[in-house]
Amino acid sequence: MELSERQEKIIQIVKNQGPITGEKIAEQLSLTRATLRPDLSILTMAGFLDARPRVGYFYAGKSANQLLSEHLRKLLVRDYKSLPVVVGEETSVYDAICMLFLEDVGTLFVIKEVGILVGVLSRKDLLQSAMGKQDLHSIPVGVVMTRMPNVITCELDDTLFETARKLMDYQVDSLPVIRPIEGSSQVEVVGRMSKTTITKAFVELAKEETV
Ligand code: ADP
Repeated sequence: MELSERQEKIIQIVKNQGPITGEKIAEQLSLTRATLRPDLSILTMAGFLDARPRVGYFYAGKSANQLLSEHLRKLLVRDYKSLPVVVGEETSVYDAICMLFLEDVGTLFVIKEVGILVGVLSRKDLLQSAMGKQDLHSIPVGVVMTRMPNVITCELDDTLFETARKLMDYQVDSLPVIRPIEGSSQVEVVGRMSKTTITKAFVELAKEETV
C-alpha cells in the first residue's frame, strides 16, 4: 500500500508520541480534525494505527520480523524448484553412481515410463549397496531405493517454508516436486527441492533490497 506524505507524517507522530488524540495530531500538522479524519480511518483500517476511545491512536504497524515472516511464507516451490535428475527402475547401481557424479547431485529420483515417480535414491542407499560383495552392474536401483508410497514429496503450489519444514522433519536431503495425474494414484515428477535449493533461496532473499 502506497502511503501519502501526510499519512507517513501521521505514522511518525503516533510512533513517537502515541497514544495521542486525533485532535493533537491535527494540531501538529496545522490541519483541522475533520481534514485528518479520512487519513486516520485509512491508517487504522490498513492496520498501521490502532484507535482506543478516549485514549487516542497507538502505533500498531508490523515489526520487521512479522513482515519478513509474511514474505517468507508467500514464496512458492514453483518459483524455486530445480531440475530433477532421474533414472529408470532398471538402471544399475553402478550407472546410478556415475549419474550422481556427472550431474553433481546427492539424490536421484527413480521413474518408470514418462516421468512417473517410483522411488528415491540417496548417496547412502548407493554406498550401502557398494559395501556388499555383489557386482554393482547387476543390481538394479529398484532394489535399493526408498519406494513409493514412502516417498515424501511436495507440490508446485506448496510454500518454500512447508518444504523446508518437511526436509527437517523427515531428515532427508531432497524432495521430488510432483504433479498428481488425474484419475490415477500415480504422480509425475516435475522438479526437485533440496536443502541446497532452500539455501540458495535464503541467500537470494538476503540480497533483496526490499523485504
Ligand atoms: P543420505 O542417504 O545421503 O544421507 P538422505 O538423508 O536424503 O540422504 O536419505 C536418507 C534415506 O532416506 C535414504 O534411504 C533415502 O532413500 C531416503 N530418502 C531420501 N529422500 C527421501 C524422500 N524425499 N522421501 C522418503 N525417503 C527419502
